[in-house]
Amino acid sequence: MGNEFRVRFAPSPTGKLHIGNARTAVLNWLLARKESGAFILRIEDTDLERSTVESEKSIIEDMHWLGLDWNEGPDKGGPFEPYRQSERGEFYCKAAKLLVERELAYYCHMTDEDMENFRREHLVRGESPVYRGEMSGPNTPGESGKPTSIRFRVGPGASSWKDLVKGNVSIDHGNIGDFIILRSDERPTYNFAVVVDDIAMGISHVIRGDDHLSNTPRQLMLYAGLGADPPVFAHIPMILGPDNQRLSKRHGAISVSEYRAEGYLPEALINYLSLLSWSSESGEDFLPPERLKAEIGFTRLGKSAAVFDRTKLRWLNGKYIRALEKERLGELLATFAGKRAQAFSPEQFGLIVSACREKLEVLTDIRKQLDNFSGETPRIEDAEDQALLGSEEARKVLSEMARRLREQDSAGVEEMKSLFKSVGKAVSVEGKMLYMPVRLALTGRRHGPELPMIMTVLGSHRCAKLLEQAAGVSG
Ligand code: GLU
Repeated sequence: MGNEFRVRFAPSPTGKLHIGNARTAVLNWLLARKESGAFILRIEDTDLERSTVESEKSIIEDMHWLGLDWNEGPDKGGPFEPYRQSERGEFYCKAAKLLVERELAYYCHMTDEDMENFRREHLVRGESPVYRGEMSGPNTPGESGKPTSIRFRVGPGASSWKDLVKGNVSIDHGNIGDFIILRSDERPTYNFAVVVDDIAMGISHVIRGDDHLSNTPRQLMLYAGLGADPPVFAHIPMILGPDNQRLSKRHGAISVSEYRAEGYLPEALINYLSLLSWSSESGEDFLPPERLKAEIGFTRLGKSAAVFDRTKLRWLNGKYIRALEKERLGELLATFAGKRAQAFSPEQFGLIVSACREKLEVLTDIRKQLDNFSGETPRIEDAEDQALLGSEEARKVLSEMARRLREQDSAGVEEMKSLFKSVGKAVSVEGKMLYMPVRLALTGRRHGPELPMIMTVLGSHRCAKLLEQAAGVSG
C-alpha cells in the first residue's frame, strides 16, 4: 500500500442515502479518481437495532444511480474483505485484546446504570463526569458476573492534527473520559471499528463531515495505541438549509432517492453537491463529472459551511437536461410522464420533447407541460383572457386560422409556421394579437412551448375544432 491514495465512504445503513452523506461520497470518489487512488465502500452496520439490509440495498442503489463506482466493497470484494463491519467481529476482538495487553485499555464491569449513577453523582457535585476507570472493577474478563466491556484509557494532554480543511486542530483530552471500545456483547463502538478498519484497509485520507470532528481525538489515540500512523484528515463543513441550520427534513427533500424521483439527473446532483465544498479555478458552475475529477483538489476545499440552494440546483439540472441527447431525454421523459405518454405516437412525443426541452428544470416538469398538448377544450376563467378572446381581432384570427386548418389534412411544423404568416396577412393582424388568441384557444395558457409544435402534435382538425369553439364561445 505505502503511498497509495485510498479513501472510503462508510455509510451506516440506517435509512436512505442522505444528501449530506452523498456529498461525502462524491468528494471521496472524485478525489480518489483525481489521485488515481482507490475508493472503498464500507458498510458500518454495527448498530444492529437500526441497521437494515433494505437500507444497505437502497444506499448502494442510489450510489449506482449517481454513477459512483468503487474499487472495493461488500458487493465487489477486494483484498481486505469483508467490507461489512458486522462481519469483521474477530478483528475488533483481537485489536481490543491487544490494547488490553499493552495496558492501554482495560476490562470494565460497569453496567449502563452504574455509568448513569456515576454521571449523576458528579453533576450533582458540580463536577464534570469524566470517567477515569474509578468503578470498573478488576481488570479481568468476566469475573464479576456482570457484563464486561473493554474501555480505552485516555491519556493526558491533547490530540493535535493538521486537517486539510480546518488547518491545525488541537482538542484537549480533559473532557474525554475513558471510552468503551468493545461492548459486553463484543460489538465494537463506532470510533473503534472505524480505526481498526481504516488501518486494516490502508486508508490514507479520511474525508468526512465536520460533525465527526469531536471523534477524531479518540481515533488518534487509538491509532497511537495500535501502533499505526493515522491517516490524513479532511473535515468538510456541513450543508446548511436557507435558515443557516443544519440541512434536515424540515428543509424539504433530503434523500438522494427523493431527488431522483423528482427528476434530477445524477450528473447534476454530483456537480451541485461537489461544488458545495469547493470551487473550480475557472469559476464555472457547469462541470460534468469528468471535469470535476480533473479539477478538484484538496487545496480548493472551502472552510465555510455551504447553504443548499435548491433554485441553483434546479437551474443546473435544467442545463444538464438540455445537454442530454434528444433520444435519451425522450426515454427519460416518457418514463416520468408515465401513462400520459401513451396518448402520443413516438413521432408526436418526439416533437413534444423538442418543444419542451428549453422549459424543463426537472424531469417531472414534463407533466405540467403535457397539459399544453392534451387537445382538451380549455377553461378560460381569467377576465383578461376572456376579453382578449372576445375581441374583434381575435375572432378574425381564430376563424381564419380554423378555416385554413380545415382545408389541410396534415401539416408539419414548418407549414404551421407559415400558416401564421398567411393568416396574419389575410386578417391584417400581427404580433401578440395573432399568437395569443390561438395559444389561449388551444391550451388555456398565455405561455408555453412553441405554438407550431403544439399544433403539429394536435393535428389540423383538432386545432380547428378548438379554435372554432373559442371563437364561438367568445362571440
Ligand atoms: N459511519 C459513519 C457515518 O455514517 C462514518 C464514519 C466516518 O466517516 O468516519 O457517519
